[in-house]
Amino acid sequence: MRRPAFGALLLAILGLLTATELALGTLVYRRLREALEADLGRRLVHVSQLLATGVDAPLVDQFRDGDEALAAYGIVRERLAAQARAAGVERAYVFDRALATRLDTGPKAPGSALYALLANRLEVESAAAGRAAATRLYRGEDGSLRLSAFAPVVREGGVGLLVGVDASPDFFASLAALRRQMLLLGGASLAVAGLAAMLIVRQVGERLGRVRRAVSRATRGDLTARAEVAGADEIGALGRDLDAMIATMVDARDHFAAVLGSLEAALLATDTSGVVTVANASARRLLGRDDLLGRPLTEVCADEPALGAFVRVALAGGQTAGAEVALGGGLPAGGRVVAASASPLVRSGERAGLALSLLDVTELRLLERRARSNERLAALGGMAGGLLHEIRNPLASMMVYLDLLRAPLAGEAEPREVLDRAIADGERLARFLEDFQIFAGLRPLRLETVDLPRAARAVAAALAWPPAVACSVQGEDGVALVADRRLLEHALRNLLRNALEALTERGGRVDVVVAREEGVVVVGVTDDGPGIPAEEVERILDPLFTTKSRGTGLGLSIVQRVLELHGGTLRVESPAGGGASFRLRFPAPS
Ligand code: ADP
Repeated sequence: MRRPAFGALLLAILGLLTATELALGTLVYRRLREALEADLGRRLVHVSQLLATGVDAPLVDQFRDGDEALAAYGIVRERLAAQARAAGVERAYVFDRALATRLDTGPKAPGSALYALLANRLEVESAAAGRAAATRLYRGEDGSLRLSAFAPVVREGGVGLLVGVDASPDFFASLAALRRQMLLLGGASLAVAGLAAMLIVRQVGERLGRVRRAVSRATRGDLTARAEVAGADEIGALGRDLDAMIATMVDARDHFAAVLGSLEAALLATDTSGVVTVANASARRLLGRDDLLGRPLTEVCADEPALGAFVRVALAGGQTAGAEVALGGGLPAGGRVVAASASPLVRSGERAGLALSLLDVTELRLLERRARSNERLAALGGMAGGLLHEIRNPLASMMVYLDLLRAPLAGEAEPREVLDRAIADGERLARFLEDFQIFAGLRPLRLETVDLPRAARAVAAALAWPPAVACSVQGEDGVALVADRRLLEHALRNLLRNALEALTERGGRVDVVVAREEGVVVVGVTDDGPGIPAEEVERILDPLFTTKSRGTGLGLSIVQRVLELHGGTLRVESPAGGGASFRLRFPAPS
């Protein structure tokens, strides 16, 4: 059954109250009026009896039609009128049993019929039987309210005449005043009740409104909402229960968030339309943004092509268990590697979205990589030590001999060219040996303070730059590192030589920027050459990877190795539009 609305219920109660109030008011008024009537009746009976004893019955009995002009009539009438005035009644009259007047202080002439008495026959008959009686309130011939009493005029022969008296209009005036006051009192109490009801409705409505607003905010997920309704009644209890319920929800949410937040793995969940509904602190850290909630997962991963592709396959319901995904260009670009896993989110047996977990395995992969390369290097080092010894000395002698040939062959163009080529190849081989020595870690570090901008300028100045290529070195002198100068210069030389080779055909510029940042010293080498194709970025740091016909493929491996030896990191970036940028980050000396 549908319950009536609160307002309607209150209106009904108010209506009932009004009706009860009216009924009670009418009852009280009736009782009062009856009591007054009875009291007045008794007084009138008394007066009528008093006047009856004073009536000269033989004389009055003789008055007939037209006798009103008689002097005797006038005298008797005047006496009766004086008695009536003294007794405080409006009118007194003497009438016979046929209801015809004999004497009247009012307007009726002797012999006139008193029609108004027809309505009071019972009381008239009672008086005629010797017992004076008062009427109830009745309407007179002129329509006004009346109350009368009748008493017998006793003679030896019995009752022949009767005396009637009518109450004064003052009585009816006070009766009317009483009625007015009762009505006024009723109206006033009704108004007070109505006002009180209105106040209660407003107060109750306002408190219920607070409860309702808190519920609707909490339903929309705003758990800061509180009803804060005071009072010991049901509404107060409802408000307190609601506030306690929201506080419990907040507790549960915070607990859930703390569990999610303390997980090392990044966790994300979406609804069926792929919009993110849950993201823990690790997810925000890993993706580098705070506004994950409420956004499509594909949009959130838009800056990470590999992760984006993984997520699209997962959202389409594809196989996605245990894939490894590169973020920020992966390891070669100084980015990260995550082990990604996606599974359907199932609620009440139905697919409700997607759950995605990303575990950062960068350090693990770096360690593995280092361990692998160390193993390789150790093996290589053992072999290379002997080899280098065997090659370096004969090569040095060979270069001296070739150099000695320069003077005798000075005038001969063709042999001279062959000699130059032989010397160039010899120098390349010497460079390779030097690279290899560093790469295989065969040289111990010789540490000293190195002023980086100065070192970079010295390296740049030693290279033969074609006119179409400009090289600039920026950075305040004095930005220094404690490092092996030869190794550091070697690494810078390799980077600048790569840039120079990338620009030789088309021309362009190379910028070296040395800067001190928070806790690190950064050296950036950027060129606006053709850049590195995306598919090669991952491989250029591999030893012996080269795209040049006369390249060794050891240049960048050495840069990487030098950084490792100095506790630094290397980051490679090559935007789609061209150009290549190498950022070397060293821990700043304390
Ligand atoms: P090498 O210079 O002997 O080839 P590196 O290890 O120095 O060996 O370089 C590996 C590869 O990386 C190069 O062959 C080239 O394809 C690429 N590379 C390095 N630096 C640049 C650059 N500044 N611009 C374009 N490609 C580059």
